[in-house]
Amino acid sequence: MSMERCSQCDETKDSDFFEFEDGLCESCIVLNKLGNEWNKLNQNPIQSKINAQENFCKKNKVPNFTSSDGICFSCKKQIFNSITEEKAETEHITGCPFCCRSFCD
Ligand SMILES: [Zn+2]
Ligand SMILES: [Zn+2]
Repeated sequence: MSMERCSQCDETKDSDFFEFEDGLCESCIVLNKLGNEWNKLNQNPIQSKINAQENFCKKNKVPNFTSSDGICFSCKKQIFNSITEEKAETEHITGCPFCCRSFCD
């Protein structure tokens, strides 16, 4: 029997029965993962703009030129900081608003 203490919930559990990863117990790992998913889908305004552009492209059958994290490959800035939610929903984004680099050539 080997007891380990979780650094997040501070509970001591038998690691023969509970999975531990980076000092976190199984339930905390699951909670953290769910939290990340939730952030991605609901709370992060950048992610919601990324999703909006993805949906726009699907609806209009055009290729999505923005990267999956919204970072410009050329100037490394977050392009969705300068793009409104409305624009991401209704316009095809083909270039970087900061360095004006086109994503489609
Ligand atoms: Zn825990
Ligand atoms: Zn750029």
